[in-house]
Amino acid sequence: MPQTNYISKEMSGCLKRYWGYDQFRPWQEDTIISILDEQETLTILPTGGGKSLCFQLPALLKEGMAVVISPLISLMKDQVDGLKDMGIPAECLNSSQTVAQQRKVIERIRGNQVKLLYISPERLQTEEALELLRSIDLSFFVIDEAHCISHWGHDFRDEYRQLGTIKDNFPGINIHAFTATATKEVQEDILAQLKFAHPRINIASVDRPNLAYRVTLRQHIIPQLIEVIERHNRDAGIIYCLRRKDVDGISKKLNKLGYKNLPYHAGLTDKERHENQERFIHEEVNIIVATVAFGMGIDRSDIRFVAHAAMPKSIEHYHQETGRAGRDGLPSYCYMFYGGGDFRIWEFFSKQSANRQVMLDKLRIMYNFCTQPQCRHKVFVNYFGQEYEHSSCQACDYCLGEVDMVDDPLELGKKIINCVATVRYGDDQGFGAGYLANVLKGTLTDQITRWGHQHNPDFGAMSAQTLNFIRYQIEQLIGQGFLERQGEYDTLALTDLGQQLLNGEITPILAKPLVAEKKKAVAARQKAKKAQDFAGVDEELFELLRAKRAELARKQGVPAYIIFGDKSLKDMATNKPTTRESFSQVFGVGEHKLKTYADYFISVIKGHEK
Ligand code: ADP
Repeated sequence: MPQTNYISKEMSGCLKRYWGYDQFRPWQEDTIISILDEQETLTILPTGGGKSLCFQLPALLKEGMAVVISPLISLMKDQVDGLKDMGIPAECLNSSQTVAQQRKVIERIRGNQVKLLYISPERLQTEEALELLRSIDLSFFVIDEAHCISHWGHDFRDEYRQLGTIKDNFPGINIHAFTATATKEVQEDILAQLKFAHPRINIASVDRPNLAYRVTLRQHIIPQLIEVIERHNRDAGIIYCLRRKDVDGISKKLNKLGYKNLPYHAGLTDKERHENQERFIHEEVNIIVATVAFGMGIDRSDIRFVAHAAMPKSIEHYHQETGRAGRDGLPSYCYMFYGGGDFRIWEFFSKQSANRQVMLDKLRIMYNFCTQPQCRHKVFVNYFGQEYEHSSCQACDYCLGEVDMVDDPLELGKKIINCVATVRYGDDQGFGAGYLANVLKGTLTDQITRWGHQHNPDFGAMSAQTLNFIRYQIEQLIGQGFLERQGEYDTLALTDLGQQLLNGEITPILAKPLVAEKKKAVAARQKAKKAQDFAGVDEELFELLRAKRAELARKQGVPAYIIFGDKSLKDMATNKPTTRESFSQVFGVGEHKLKTYADYFISVIKGHEK
């Protein structure tokens, strides 16, 4: 027991001295203790959960050097720069360095001056690296982004498959694996590939309580996106699109309207992609319009919003993409604008996939997520096989009461399904959603007159509702599996579930579309919430501190978040420390940062307070 106390004190001391943090986040302490106890670990923490600290801190406390295997060279450099900025002796070895730079690093390693070495999996396989690592005292290996080892993961990498040889090459040295991907298959694959014998497995909740989710039917995407951008004036954000041409179109239109942004997709040259990513990371531009190709190398912690201009193909993807918001733990916002067409596009792509059925199942669950009003946090957590413990998240459109439910969903559902079942022609052919909506509304279009459906008993069955309302109900019934689109013309047909609804055996969950008044109320509420996020913060000072941070980052050639996160700047703009003593109390100020940066920021605070 006294031993544990001692360790725990040493751990907290280290946390404060280097990171300037007062408390561990969930699972960090457990993981660190296992690592110190020489027990191998697989740790699954959501993005922003604080995985890096779990291995960086014990690397400092243990004898020898820890070796971190990381898939992305760009990320490696940022991590090493971040550690050096906290006074932690870290280095990396990769192909982006000159021979002279590499030689210097190797010298430092041989001189036992390095506590953490970041290296790519392919580099680790070279005889030269193996010889170097065998010649020095190692504390442990870390496999970062360990899901890359698994075919079931979304970022499978061939080079990661070789990592099983670590055990043979370095018997007796522990391995610790980290990932944010929580599915069972991936976990099992990691354990098997790395040949773990008796690992400790730490699995945190996948929930990201600081993210607020809102899901809306896409109508006119540019005004919808502008509303989001304006709500997040000056904030960093990512807008995800489904296809390259959507990225180009949306990016151009927004730029033309004065909303500065950069595009990112696999069709750009390597140079363009790299430049745009760097400009985003270095805060020269705050908005990126991108396909899913964007994100893996992004550690920027102050991304305040992620907007989806279209529906992603699975909950895993949505969770990962929205996960890039709010890594610093501050309130951040996710907006999804989906349409029935997105489903059809993904369905079409799935035809080229060997795993078509799996893809379609995931797609249906995703579409259901969009069209079924319910607690969004709960859906995520349950999807990954975990229990959600709260009755309301207070951080999604549903739990915040922004979604108005229809009064009698069963009656309404029956009306629509009945119409789909009876409005047919010829050899039992159906009609599309637009046509059926007009029948229900009772609009006498030329087409309806031609088919004679004005005589159908369902004609005008929902005449009191707007067409928009009716279309929205149909979309929800499709998403919830009561109806399906069929064939070349997207005609609607009943499913078995639809038949059950018609028999009154099952009730759909149907919401009303957001009307203008409600939209205004939601926008006002969000504005109030943002003001609350900044309660007590001198916003003018915050902007000045941000500018100082950007200037220092530019000078040092590092991303701004490496110097201080927004949380630290907010703390400074609230408590306004003007002495070194009080500055040392700021969130995220460790000993090294105090020495390096206190004077710069204190002078900004003093200048503002004059
Ligand atoms: P992950 O790799 O799990 O996505 P990171 O390791 O990048 O997350 O950590 C996300 C952010 O949280 C970083 O800015 C990190 O400094 C911060 N962080 C980590 N642990 C703590 C802690 N105990 N207290 C406060 N902030 C923390």
